[in-house]
Amino acid sequence: MRKSTKEVIIGKGPKQIKIGSSNAIAIQSMCNTRTSDVASTVAQIKRLEKAGCNIIRVAVLNFEDAYAIKEIVKEINIPLVADIHFDYKLAIASIEAGVDKLRINPGNIGSIENVKKVVEKCKEYQIPIRIGVNLGSLNKEIEEKYGRSAKALFESAKEHVSILEQLDFKDIVISLKASNLEMCIEAYKLASSFFDYPLHVGITEAGSNYAGTIKSSIGIGILLNEGIGDTIRVSLSDDPVEEIKAAKEILSCLNLYTKPTITSCPTCGRTQFNMLPILNEIETWLNNTYPNNRIHVAIMGCAVNGPGEAKDADIGIAGGIGEALLFKKGQIIRKIKEENIIEELKQEIENMIK
Ligand code: SF4
Repeated sequence: MRKSTKEVIIGKGPKQIKIGSSNAIAIQSMCNTRTSDVASTVAQIKRLEKAGCNIIRVAVLNFEDAYAIKEIVKEINIPLVADIHFDYKLAIASIEAGVDKLRINPGNIGSIENVKKVVEKCKEYQIPIRIGVNLGSLNKEIEEKYGRSAKALFESAKEHVSILEQLDFKDIVISLKASNLEMCIEAYKLASSFFDYPLHVGITEAGSNYAGTIKSSIGIGILLNEGIGDTIRVSLSDDPVEEIKAAKEILSCLNLYTKPTITSCPTCGRTQFNMLPILNEIETWLNNTYPNNRIHVAIMGCAVNGPGEAKDADIGIAGGIGEALLFKKGQIIRKIKEENIIEELKQEIENMIK
């Protein structure tokens, strides 16, 4: 059962995304371009949009970055989030430039007067705020009192939230990130049992594409499986498009996202055809051509076990010597010559989808 949270609306018009409540779990990423480099940032966001990104964040380090937002938002089709540390003037400039959401921690932007100015501007433009607590940037008092712990992350989030609530601002999303998996999971559980605000879930600094995807899948997967999380970001030290691919796969495994499913066997001594290039080609083609189709395709290494083991698949092939068997729901349909497997399988899949 998904934990019920408040709905938060990000963006206006056709770009709008709603998170929390019963809305689909949104996929996020962050640009690694310099925000002031509008052409590179827009190009990266376009690639991310195409890959399935729902919300994109950019770092705003100075006024050049904040002013660039005005140009960026004109070119893109998903809501834009400005990530700001410390400087309330950058938050205000970003809002005036047309950003759709802020990531800023109210406890870190100085006097309550400064926080008020940001909150007033957010209310005027209907801009939600994500409070992004991170183990690496806990304030001294909290760290002294609770150590570097899940409780410290949670207490820190409570502190930031109460600053906004005292100003009657409730358009809030919360994240509590640590790279330590257990601590991060525990912090989100504490937050989920206490707050009704939507949670942005992710394991920070998760690592390279390979290691980070595994770590994020475990962390985000455990939380989602317990009904915790309204939007996710997989943090990888790689091209951000890889983050979107990983996020979609995590959600799809938990039946929270519709995309093609590929079943493939690990291959063994019974495999007598060159299966891996076929698998890679079909998987890439399917994900690019029918990214939101539910079709289930199997690529299996042998005719002995392949069709039976992949009975759940809508369609599949099982390789043999110089040929493959085409099967549908485990029933063998016909043989395909090895050199025609890719072309004929694609054709069969298209016929089935249409
Ligand atoms: Fe081996 Fe056939 Fe099973 Fe693939 S389907 S792992 S080739 S027995």
